[in-house]
Amino acid sequence: MSFKNQLISSLKTIIITILLILANIAAVLFVDYISSDFTVGPLYNSLIIVIAVAIANSLLWPIFRRFLMKFIILTFGIGSLFINSVIFYIATYFIPGVHVGFYGFWQVPIVMAIATTFITNITNTNYFDSYIKNILRYAIKRKSSYNKQYSGVIMLEIDGLSFNTLKKAIDKGVMPTVKSWIENDTHTLKQWETDLSSQTGASQAGILHGNNRDIVAYRWVEKENDNNIMVSGKLSHAPKIEERISNGEGLLVNGISIANMFSGDSKISALTSSRLGGISRIYNKTLHTIFLDAYNFQRIFILFLWDILVEFKSQLVHDIKNIQPRLRRTPVYAAIRAGANVVLRESTTEILTSEILTGEIDTAYATFMGYDEVAHHSGVEDDDVWSVLKQIDLQFSRLTSAITMSDRDYKLVILSDHGQSNGATFKQRYGITLGNYVRRLLPDDLTVFRSEYNIDHFRDAVLPENKQLQNIKERVENIRDDLFDKSGPIQNIRNELNERKPSIIFENEQYLNLREKYSNSLEYIKGYESVQQSTQKAKDSELIVLGSGNMGLIYLTQWSQRLNYEEIVMLFPDLIPGLVNHSGVGFILVNSLSNGGMVIGQNGIYYLDGDRIVGENPLEDFGKNAPKHLKRQNSFKNMPDILVNSFYDRKHDEVCAFEELIGSHGGLGGNQSKPFILYPSEWENPGDLIGAESIYKFLKREIEKSDSG
Ligand SMILES: [Zn+2]
Repeated sequence: MSFKNQLISSLKTIIITILLILANIAAVLFVDYISSDFTVGPLYNSLIIVIAVAIANSLLWPIFRRFLMKFIILTFGIGSLFINSVIFYIATYFIPGVHVGFYGFWQVPIVMAIATTFITNITNTNYFDSYIKNILRYAIKRKSSYNKQYSGVIMLEIDGLSFNTLKKAIDKGVMPTVKSWIENDTHTLKQWETDLSSQTGASQAGILHGNNRDIVAYRWVEKENDNNIMVSGKLSHAPKIEERISNGEGLLVNGISIANMFSGDSKISALTSSRLGGISRIYNKTLHTIFLDAYNFQRIFILFLWDILVEFKSQLVHDIKNIQPRLRRTPVYAAIRAGANVVLRESTTEILTSEILTGEIDTAYATFMGYDEVAHHSGVEDDDVWSVLKQIDLQFSRLTSAITMSDRDYKLVILSDHGQSNGATFKQRYGITLGNYVRRLLPDDLTVFRSEYNIDHFRDAVLPENKQLQNIKERVENIRDDLFDKSGPIQNIRNELNERKPSIIFENEQYLNLREKYSNSLEYIKGYESVQQSTQKAKDSELIVLGSGNMGLIYLTQWSQRLNYEEIVMLFPDLIPGLVNHSGVGFILVNSLSNGGMVIGQNGIYYLDGDRIVGENPLEDFGKNAPKHLKRQNSFKNMPDILVNSFYDRKHDEVCAFEELIGSHGGLGGNQSKPFILYPSEWENPGDLIGAESIYKFLKREIEKSDSG
């Protein structure tokens, strides 16, 4: 650095320091003015307070941090705000004339932090740079004696961002870091294609473990397991799912997993669902990085509050402009959004930075989930998402500068696990949920319990068990007992079906009668007129309907096995035609005893075995690999009796979700199945990437090359 530059930089530091002191004085006086619980005393006390707090922080913070780290982390950082207040209290205790009451104890440190954040923002000071230097000191201290010479690989996932939306973001100029990599040809951008279940559970299982078999959707019912409803991201379920899919050779064997659903068999992990198994296990040494200095978590907390305000503003804008479709978003969502978008984002970058500087890990995979969360609620390409992507892009630039400072080289890969498709929800369009609609197609005497979710994934992971759902199991048991007490022809069939005797079905009189009615399936379905039956209040469950984006899963839970097409038609003749004829439904997938997987649309059937089409191809608009994906999924365990996929309107590029989310993913149709991967240009072109497991193979191969090279 030349003398002139050095002078400018020192001058800048001095000016910023003066501004920071003035802003903090203003903050102190402001609280004195508005709060009856804090008194400054003589005016010059405000300067003394600011200086005393700065000194106390630098002396006391390291001591508190050392002894109270577990407390800080297990209170999600709120403990650190408490310590900030304690230090403030100690610092001002001996200043004559100052009075700090209970509210003042909390108010002053927070308002001072707001003032500091405001000044660093308007002076364009990247606080992160100075924090890197702190982390660096910490990292070097615990650095192992040997140095790995080969490059490591850091994989950063932007949850839910499709290839096409990424390109729009680049064109809009909101992702300058990514743009420069592509322009300078250091990285190559490629689209890939998800499996049928276009959601994080299936995709991360495939990407991180190379195996996503039997992951039917984000949530599914396990009939054989007493109708247990498995939820991919749930802290108590993710470890069980990982146990099933992992063979110990995941992507992160000598690496770190941060903020993911599955661990990729990583050596270390932070904020990873499959490794938490309960909130109490959130404590983790890697999280220390976030609390190395007194101000860092305060800064994250202020950004968190700011994001809540941004969300409220967006709600107002959506209302005033009457943007359609739109969701009613709650204050609780605003806090969840800010948690996913800000707290996790900042924490992830800081943990990664520390690992990069230490240089011990060979691989890392981290999820930035802000885009997915905001797109679900505001819309896939709503104005809200661009600022979220801009902040994520900033993290990439921060991590790049950390790599520059590290002794070890790391390659960066940016990818997404799936995209999202836009559109008003099924309920918004038709005034009824899929669960309620299905209910209308079933006999009155069939007691039905519907359980639809209207929950975003992030909240799913942290909320306690839903008591209502837990009761389903019990209810189903009762219903079964009731049913088996009764006699009658339908009951006999049920018993026989449970024993899986196909010949009995076909010899049964009732079946033969029905068979006559629909000797030609397509004619039968097309000729059907929807009967809207009055239903009694659902008391008990014989039916569970789940939504995973625009994929609906219908489980008839009285039977321990998956019912086939013939059985469904015989038992509930209105159900399949009623579904297929609904204009919100694109196609359904059922398994036929005689014909294998049948994809049925309003005007045609696609027989997956043999790829035979009768009438119009129901998969016409869903991509050329749709039959392949459906065929694979049809062989999965725990498949619903009927899998439903909403329509895809190619002209307006819209789907309709069975959850209350206007940006959605989980099934087929549009950008949801078209994520991207941005990889170092020196890597070999992997060819077509179809299915999440192909991403695993590609990345694993390159990681192994790097290890041995
Ligand atoms: Zn999502």
